Amino acid sequence: MLKGRNVIITGGANGIGKATAILMARYGASVICWDLDEASGKKLVEYAASNNLNIRFALVDITDFKKVEAATKQSIDEMQHVDVLINNAGITMDATLLKMSPEQWQKVIDVNLTGVFNCTKSIAGHMKSRNYGRIVNASSVVGIYGNFGQTNYVATKAGVIGMTKVWAREFGKYGITVNAVAPGFIRTEMIESVPEKVVEGMEQKAALKRLGEVEDIAHAYLYLASDWASFITGTVLSVDGGLVI
Ligand code: NAD
Repeated sequence: MLKGRNVIITGGANGIGKATAILMARYGASVICWDLDEASGKKLVEYAASNNLNIRFALVDITDFKKVEAATKQSIDEMQHVDVLINNAGITMDATLLKMSPEQWQKVIDVNLTGVFNCTKSIAGHMKSRNYGRIVNASSVVGIYGNFGQTNYVATKAGVIGMTKVWAREFGKYGITVNAVAPGFIRTEMIESVPEKVVEGMEQKAALKRLGEVEDIAHAYLYLASDWASFITGTVLSVDGGLVI
């Protein structure tokens, strides 16, 4: 499905990004994960090496445009070309508006919104020159419907949907598709510290009566990154088990 394709995944050292790196490598891609978490990145690379998967790691802070540009140059040097960018890295710093500090606001904007801008701006020119590209951005169900206590996060996830639509229009004529995925509640490490009753409540809210697994999102990224989705651009694919219908 991705044989011969070279992929950059931001936030690829953990959670959904890591599952995506493994899945895409299994489907033939060469993957470089850009992440701040060097320890997890190294573990992933060791896992990949012992499972015959082509996954590399680069320490990149996506909030720093100069570092992203340097990493882009290095990734292109290493792989010759980049076909797919998965803008997956994201953080939360939740608080209701009256309790949210300007620092909490800015930090989430820096990673989830400016980070997506930095990576796409750095790589899209290269894709344009090759007349081929797949860009997939991580939004969230809350970016469509809002959520209590998440002013900063919702602003970024709604912003990512807006940027997805702009870039789909700007880059369509160069063979580049740009789409977003909007996950619902996904079973990640974060969920392990959530009380069982709260998790049950989350499960009951979804039509499918379960949380999503990281692979559910990885499959959506994989599909939108593949040539099977070559006529899809500017869309937001909800992967939420029927949380909102
Ligand atoms: P996660 O916390 O498990 O992984 C995020 C990764 O991003 C981490 O490895 C972290 O080190 C990396 N990262 C953070 N800041 C970075 C920076 N400045 N530069 C480079 N890397 C950085 O998160 P996840 O749950 O796997 O979520 C992945 C994406 O999916 C995020 O964008 C998140 O907002 C979105 N999402 C997740 C859920 C969910 O339930 N988990 C739901 C909706 C949307």
